[in-house]
Amino acid sequence: MKGVRLRTKILVLMIGVLTLSGVSMIVLGKTVFYQKLSVRLQQRGISLAGQIAWKSVNPILTERPHELAETVRDFKNSEDDVEYIFILDGRGAVIAHTFEKGFPVRLKNVNELVAGQTHNVRPFRIDEKNIEKNILDIAVPVLGGEEGVVHVGISRDPIIEDVNEIVMVMVWMITGVMIVGGIAAFVLARRITKPVSELTGAVKIAGSGDLNHMVRVSAHDEIGLLAESFNKMTGDLKKREAEMEMINSELTALQIISAIATDSHNLKDLFTDVLAAVTNFGILRFARKGAVFMIKGDRMDLVLQTGFTEAFEKAHKGMKVGQCICGLAAETGKIVVSENSESDSRHTITYPGITPHGHVSIPLAARNRIFGVLCLYPPVGTEIDERKTALFYTIGSRIGAAIDNILLYEEIKELSLHDPLTNLANRRLMNYVLETSYARARRAEGPLSAIMLDIDFFKQYNDTYGHTVGDNMLVSIANIISKEIRQIDLGVRYGGEEFLILLPETGLSEACEVAERIRRDVETNTGITVSLGVSCYDHSMSRKEDIVSKADDALLRAKQKGRNRIEVNA
Ligand code: GH3
Ligand code: MG
Ligand code: MG
Repeated sequence: MKGVRLRTKILVLMIGVLTLSGVSMIVLGKTVFYQKLSVRLQQRGISLAGQIAWKSVNPILTERPHELAETVRDFKNSEDDVEYIFILDGRGAVIAHTFEKGFPVRLKNVNELVAGQTHNVRPFRIDEKNIEKNILDIAVPVLGGEEGVVHVGISRDPIIEDVNEIVMVMVWMITGVMIVGGIAAFVLARRITKPVSELTGAVKIAGSGDLNHMVRVSAHDEIGLLAESFNKMTGDLKKREAEMEMINSELTALQIISAIATDSHNLKDLFTDVLAAVTNFGILRFARKGAVFMIKGDRMDLVLQTGFTEAFEKAHKGMKVGQCICGLAAETGKIVVSENSESDSRHTITYPGITPHGHVSIPLAARNRIFGVLCLYPPVGTEIDERKTALFYTIGSRIGAAIDNILLYEEIKELSLHDPLTNLANRRLMNYVLETSYARARRAEGPLSAIMLDIDFFKQYNDTYGHTVGDNMLVSIANIISKEIRQIDLGVRYGGEEFLILLPETGLSEACEVAERIRRDVETNTGITVSLGVSCYDHSMSRKEDIVSKADDALLRAKQKGRNRIEVNA
């Protein structure tokens, strides 16, 4: 029955069983009824034949055949199912019978019918109408058989009819039972197979990857238990799947943060990328708001925020380590979680337009130093489990390590590009800046000027006051230069006591004004003087060094012309 559905199999089986038992009942019933009725018929025949024998004794003994014939005729007429009666004498000759047309030929060998026995005589032609009947012949001896034998033939047809009638009733009853049984079998098969096919369907759906399909548990039988187990199994699988997805997203988050930490070369880029990433992480379910604070002494500086208004920035100005939730994270170096800002007494900073929110404040630390705090603002009631807390510590330490590296890098860069005594740019940085500003000037994107400065009679100053005082003087002059120039200008310690100032976006006359301010400032405040040469880019220059050498030439002229003055090389 390959390919046949379970319901059909059960139905066929049940109908088969019903049919088999129905047929068996009919066959058995027929046999039983037939046997019972036959026994009764036989008893009746024996009793009848006994009565005839009793009544025949006298006529036989007195040899009155007429009386004998009357006796047997009376008996036959009084009983409907008696087909014939005949009596044989002691020698086996027929001495009386009820056959109207003479004794039938087929019964000539009546001696074979043994007295005291019953015989099945069939088929037995009993008259001219040629009707064959199923007859039970009963022979009863008269006076022990010596005087004769009485034979009574009783038709079996009525009992066959009775049996057939009973069998018909049985057939109808069994048919009824089979119809009802068939319907019951169908319903039962459906009841058994429906949950099974539902389960099969659900298994197929689950197999295709959809774990949301649940099976109806309709009963508490084995199939019901199976359905329950299946539902539990898919539920567990779903949970596992969600967990795996969560772990996967967490790993992705960590991977993204690690990549940002590795790729960022300055704090601004680092914090911008970190905030953009964390506020977009699906796993964290955060409102798209975040802030980064850096620790400076006992202060917390808000260096970057996303998703907040100016009011937030204002409220956090001058914030102290230990203040509010983020300050606590900075103070303790531990992640601080708050599920609702409104009901948390640790939350002390408020501002206009503030709405209830949660907090996850992650310290950004490395090498036992806390650099700052990354503050995230999940919706109220967001729970942070242990695994997420561990993840946030890892994220915090990755960002902390990146900050540490960037600060170290900037420190080293500062050292390698600046003069340690005056803190002005050294020639390496000057070359780099000169290259970009010279290129801009060449592209005619703006003028570029340079001032070369040399201290007058500095050797003498050193000789008089000593080298250390000389060094201090160099620092004072560097400070004056830094004070007089703009942010975009670059003050350079060019040589021992020579300084160069690069002035992008500055023409010759403006550069001369700057030079004059410096000259005057030095003269007024230091007690010594300086000479300055000024140059400006023009298109005749072919190398970036030309602008420097031109300023140097001008400086030489200033020295030659008596010092404490400015000369221009246009
Ligand atoms: P001039 O007006 O012609 O420039 O005279 P000057 O004495 O300044 O001559 P010059 O520029 O040749 O002298 C350079 C002197 O600057 C030599 C040295 O004693 C001094 N000097 C150079 N570097 C340093 C430094 O780092 N510290 C100190 N204290 N002195 C320095
Ligand atoms: Mg010099
Ligand atoms: Mg000098």
